[in-house]
Amino acid sequence: MSSFLDAFDVDQQKLELLDKAIAQDPRQNDKRICICGHSISRHKINEYTGKMECRPARFKCPCQRKHPVIEVPNTKYFLSRTAGSGEKHALTRGIYLSQKALGEEFDNNAKWLVEMQCENPACKAPTKLYPVMCDFDGYRLYEKRPDNENPDQGYTWFLCEACREVYHDSEEATAAKQQALKMRNTATPN
Ligand SMILES: [Zn+2]
Ligand SMILES: [Zn+2]
Ligand SMILES: [Zn+2]
Repeated sequence: MSSFLDAFDVDQQKLELLDKAIAQDPRQNDKRICICGHSISRHKINEYTGKMECRPARFKCPCQRKHPVIEVPNTKYFLSRTAGSGEKHALTRGIYLSQKALGEEFDNNAKWLVEMQCENPACKAPTKLYPVMCDFDGYRLYEKRPDNENPDQGYTWFLCEACREVYHDSEEATAAKQQALKMRNTATPN
């Protein structure tokens, strides 16, 4: 069948057995994708620090919010890095690459694991969402910061159009955020 493999002195039957063994590995069977855009099975607790780590590939993802949002037929397309929100987010890119590679197979077998509504508790609109790259306090991070190559801090939220820009546009929100940061920086740890 495979003329390219004929070039190797390998056994086709052994290859098939190996393939079946890999398919039975529970790590391979978890098809859930985290909101950070990477497979849930790539999230592990670091033995030394006790902290959760997401390692989709050779790079480390700063994910701080392990939250399965979609189940997919094949997790291998979810290895991108987040470079911002929306189109620049690893989750959007993973879905895009899957659809491109698998076509209908993806559409027929993938399913959302969360209700598709805005995650702002004051909104909850069941509308089109945007994976928004946020900081620890849930404020949107913008990718255009010249001082920082990778501003992803590991907090993604699904927000609607009305909610995703609110902190950026409103002066009260900016002031509130500055106040919160000031308090956090001056607070004495207990
Ligand atoms: Zn994650
Ligand atoms: Zn991740
Ligand atoms: Zn909203």
